[in-house]
Amino acid sequence: MPGLPKQALTALFDRHAPFRWRPDGSLSQLRWLRELWTHCNVADFSKHRQRLVRLALLSRIGLNDVVAQTGVSFDFQSLGVLQIFRQSPPSPIVEKRLQELQAFGCDAQWYEPRQVRAMEPGLSESVRIAGGLHVRDDASGDCERFTQGLLAWNQVRGLHFESNARVESLELDARGERLCAVRSKTQRWQADAFVFATGVDTTRLLTPYMRVPIVPVKGYSVTVSLAQGQGVQGAVIDDASKLAMARLGQRVRLAGMAEVVGHDRHINMARCQQLVDHYASLYGPLPAQGQQMWAGLRPMTPDGTPIIGATPVHGLYLNAGHGTYGWTLACGSAQLLADVIAQRPSVLNPDAYALDPARRALA
Ligand SMILES: Cc1cc2nc3c(=O)[nH]c(=O)nc-3n(C[C@H](O)[C@H](O)[C@H](O)COP(=O)(O)OP(=O)(O)OC[C@H]3O[C@@H](n4cnc5c(N)ncnc54)[C@H](O)[C@@H]3O)c2cc1C
Repeated sequence: MPGLPKQALTALFDRHAPFRWRPDGSLSQLRWLRELWTHCNVADFSKHRQRLVRLALLSRIGLNDVVAQTGVSFDFQSLGVLQIFRQSPPSPIVEKRLQELQAFGCDAQWYEPRQVRAMEPGLSESVRIAGGLHVRDDASGDCERFTQGLLAWNQVRGLHFESNARVESLELDARGERLCAVRSKTQRWQADAFVFATGVDTTRLLTPYMRVPIVPVKGYSVTVSLAQGQGVQGAVIDDASKLAMARLGQRVRLAGMAEVVGHDRHINMARCQQLVDHYASLYGPLPAQGQQMWAGLRPMTPDGTPIIGATPVHGLYLNAGHGTYGWTLACGSAQLLADVIAQRPSVLNPDAYALDPARRALA
């Protein structure tokens, strides 16, 4: 976003800020930050936002197909996502985003405070609400239940799946042009095509062969049981704190924070408590018992667009760098990648998601 560098610098001096950056002194982090910085302008923000929305819309079609075909259940709720603003008037960026989304045919609307409260009656009376951006096309659910359900459905139909198998090395042909096999400590897998959907580990794994500009951006979530009718009802993002909240059946999940702190996965309880406190300031306190804390690393590219497609090594394909939107973009990314591998036309321009920055820039 255009204002990100300023927010990042301010965050260095505010330990409660949702964004946190710990310089690790590495050249790769500095290079990534410099690239990120060059994209923080209105033109690039708009370009990359459009790429994400196109991919998200394709994903929505794919997700609906998957749900219809498999019947997988994952506390799916397709009531849209509501971004609430406590300050008015909304910034021009919000208005521009509304226009962009509407131009894509998305059902996005500005909600007045009473409409926000009608949608989310659990919001405390004492919270000042300036309005909300409601994107009707969006949806929410439990991604772990989705992937587990999908895996089980596929296994019944003959999918061979191995968990806890870590690829340690790659085997290229004699000319060093084609990937022939990958190896773990104990096993070797041979194939015509390999897809590396290896998140934040992609960069390290492929360092000898290519530069993949992905940096981990750490976030936290807290999930807790809460009876329906209490607290958050749908999927809500608080613009001020960047806290995302979603109702998952009899549970509520909170997620947020963005920390550029390397590959550190430890759960910082103070940061999780901040999420709980932000939630409490909007909806009142959550039950203290049974709160499940989690930390995860978002694989983030400097321009915010994922890398999907072929690489300089034949037979090696990437599907990584989806940052904040890995699940939102999953089904569309899979479709695009399948089209690239099968060398058939795609509804999206593959160049826009290519590893090569020059191809990306021209797309
Ligand atoms: C707090 C939080 C909230 C989020 N909320 C949302 C949200 O609401 N909506 C949304 O769309 N996204 C959300 N995201 C982002 C989303 O989680 C990521 O974009 C997504 O997980 C990226 O998926 P991935 O498969 O590319 O990477 P990952 O989920 O990181 O998966 C990569 C996999 O590759 C495996 N791997 C790595 N190296 C190797 C190797 N050498 N050999 C074998 N396997 C390997 C890893 O074990 C891992 O299983 C959130 C993230 C966080 C942290």
